[in-house]
Amino acid sequence: MDLKIAVLPGDYIGPEVMAAALPVLEQVLRKGGHSLSHSTHPVGGAGIDAHGKALPDPTLAACQAADAILFGSVGGPKWEKLPPQEQPERASLLPLRKRFSLFANVRPGLLPKTLADTSPIRPERIPDGIDMVCIRELTGGLYFGAKSTRDLEGGDVEAIDTMVYRKSEIERITDVAIATARGRRGRITLVDKANVLQTSVLWRKVVAERVAAKAPELKLEFLYIDNAAMQLVLRPGQFDVVLTENMFGDILSDEMAVVCGSLGMMASASLGAVANRHGRPFGLYEPSGGTAPDIAGQDKANPCAQILSAALMLRHSFGLEDEARAIERAVDRAVAEGVRTADIAGGRTAVGCAAMGKAVLERL
Ligand code: NAD
Repeated sequence: MDLKIAVLPGDYIGPEVMAAALPVLEQVLRKGGHSLSHSTHPVGGAGIDAHGKALPDPTLAACQAADAILFGSVGGPKWEKLPPQEQPERASLLPLRKRFSLFANVRPGLLPKTLADTSPIRPERIPDGIDMVCIRELTGGLYFGAKSTRDLEGGDVEAIDTMVYRKSEIERITDVAIATARGRRGRITLVDKANVLQTSVLWRKVVAERVAAKAPELKLEFLYIDNAAMQLVLRPGQFDVVLTENMFGDILSDEMAVVCGSLGMMASASLGAVANRHGRPFGLYEPSGGTAPDIAGQDKANPCAQILSAALMLRHSFGLEDEARAIERAVDRAVAEGVRTADIAGGRTAVGCAAMGKAVLERL
């Protein structure tokens, strides 16, 4: 297979973790007899510095010509004084999500027993580790609804965000949850606030109908967001596939990442409605964390999230399951053998970002 990838490292630790991930991707594809062509482009703060905007035209053009995007992360103190609409994250990731209809964010939350010591949760609460996937709707809800701020009589000020969902939007993300649950333990938990929100009432109805019609063999459960946030800390091992709307998913998937140890281990896939040249979903693959300015430039970042994002890309956008698994196994092996960056070292001597990448490469 020939794979064409746009590589967008972004800011702060973005280029460091990307430099560790690319050799892993190149090697696994070379071994599998595939050909990879990739080109690297500035995005976020790097885009602003190079071209005056967070998503420069040549970067967007490269994404349009590719089968998938391997993304680092964007933003940081250097650009935080810019107006909100010009902020690196908002002005690059949101338009990319819109442009490529990236409606499904798939985040695995995996904590093998061997890594239980890296979780802030007491080991007796996670006797079997954690193996869940959070599926978050990514292009609807509060973040994309109409917004306004206006001055009121008497000097008060009113700001409005609008939460909008359509049946068709809920159906297509439910289909992603169904496909994911089928390859796993077969349980979907819909997280919502149906006791308060009208959109949640629609979510419950549409998801229940869709699962009953398309996948009656799956078990569907409902949980209010406030309870879900508690359950994720109390008994994280109980979850299989968690399906939820945009804002709840934003918060819950970060909580999941922390419960699973370190943001530095958490990969994510944002899948589009449009197929790539190989008939698979076009997708954007990135670490769940941000640019970690506190450790940038010190060879301290954990590159595993970026490496595992590349594995997700091979799985979802190219159907290369064996290659994806080979990368995941190499990461598991390196970590289980005690090669760990500071965020997951737990008292052991830590290795740097480059050495961690090399350790994974050697175990492929
Ligand atoms: P962050 O995720 O960058 O950092 C939170 C904590 O996690 C920090 O202590 C950091 O050192 C640690 N961490 C994150 N990734 C790590 C890794 N790979 N290895 C080791 N430790 C890691 O969140 P923040 O500090 O809130 O945000 C910093 C910047 O990143 C902000 O400008 C924010 O807007 C941006 N951000 C970007 C994205 C994105 O590009 N998708 C996502 C979140 C935040």
